Amino acid sequence: MGRYSKEEIIRLVEDGDIQFIRMQFTDIFGQMKNVAITASQIRRAVNNEIMMDGSSIEGFVRIEESDQYLWPDLDTFAVLPWRPQYGKVARLICDVHNPDGTPFMGDPRNVLRQALSRAERMGYTFHVGPELEFFLFQTDDNGKPTAQTADEASYFDLGPLDHGESTRREVALALEQMGMEVEASHHEIAAGQHEIDLKYTEALRAADNIMTCKLAVKTLAQKNGLHATFMPKPITGAAGSGMHLNMSLFHGGKNLFFDEHTRNQLSATATAFIAGLLTHVRGLCAVTNPLVNSYKRLVPGYEAPCYLAWSSSNRSSLVRIPAPRGQATRVELRNPDPSCNPYLAMAVCLAAGLDGIERKLTPPPEVAENIYAMTPETRAAHGIESLPGTLFAALRAMEQDTVVTDTLGPHVTAHYIGGKQREWTEYQSQVSQWELERYLVAY
Ligand code: GLU
Ligand code: MG
Repeated sequence: MGRYSKEEIIRLVEDGDIQFIRMQFTDIFGQMKNVAITASQIRRAVNNEIMMDGSSIEGFVRIEESDQYLWPDLDTFAVLPWRPQYGKVARLICDVHNPDGTPFMGDPRNVLRQALSRAERMGYTFHVGPELEFFLFQTDDNGKPTAQTADEASYFDLGPLDHGESTRREVALALEQMGMEVEASHHEIAAGQHEIDLKYTEALRAADNIMTCKLAVKTLAQKNGLHATFMPKPITGAAGSGMHLNMSLFHGGKNLFFDEHTRNQLSATATAFIAGLLTHVRGLCAVTNPLVNSYKRLVPGYEAPCYLAWSSSNRSSLVRIPAPRGQATRVELRNPDPSCNPYLAMAVCLAAGLDGIERKLTPPPEVAENIYAMTPETRAAHGIESLPGTLFAALRAMEQDTVVTDTLGPHVTAHYIGGKQREWTEYQSQVSQWELERYLVAY
């Protein structure tokens, strides 16, 4: 049973002074899209009658089969707090369906739903708590983004006004008004860098929440004259932005990753899940780290992982086990970044973990030392492998990993790899500033 019935949604719209409803969905590259309807159309909307042309959405369908229907998930109904409060705007997050009513295979939300129903058949509920990092930059006189951080501006200002801090505060409050739980929000290590931690929840909702959080951050930053970016590594030499995913499996309200009788209080299910993640992370990181730029974050020295290891504490490892136990026991995967499509990312991470459980895989021993400080020989002696160093390498690893491609399904796999390969080919033919500085005079 959902939170709202169709009739309740109609009443909320009619009695709530709501003028527009945004029917939202996400393309395979993680961009939020929406079709806006007026309140007069709400009956059609709750009866899944709103149509959209999928041919203009990247990775969706061909011209000749372009009609698709938006089926709103009624439980996602929320008023957008940053829009006018007279004649309000609400949103509904939608699943995309074919004209015959079947789920559309290119809809990322459907990919995650499929992965979750497999987990459910195995008796598991998948919970995810995401930590979103991002930068706030100044805009110029024309409102165009610059690469100047908001913090620097407050340093040069006479009456220092940290627009960054107030934007973060407004985001946290807006998300709470929309019914989301924000666990913490704080300044991150780099100038102009911030973090918002969302309370863990069931994965589909967690992915919806990430999309909502990104929209809120971008919108409210813009209102404050700032530009928010989830680009993973905007500044050379400064920390990049990650989106660590805290994952756990529950059954009947009980966290299955906790076992008070083992040495580290992690259950056999948890260690097999970790082993599955380590086995498939090379194959799934084209999804969790989807941009050319993502791989410039995954370098030593900035608390972003580049080596395949796990640990109870060490922030240089790919998988970290945060201290809390009991119901809060979780596995933190540290390579994902906030430019990824959260639906696809959660689907492939879950599939990797479940493969570990199904095949009863055992992870290598924990690595307590700082892996960045190890020599290549020491790493080799520990059997520590690396993440792919480029988007190109990640795409090749993805093609080899059938757990990942089966989870995405043939439609998403083909469109995803095709689109990302084109992105890589375009990047690779660019001559960069670095090359000019390094080679123009020297050769
Ligand atoms: N910014 C770091 C990253 O790129 C993470 C810092 C932290 O541990 O929160 O993943
Ligand atoms: Mg952080």
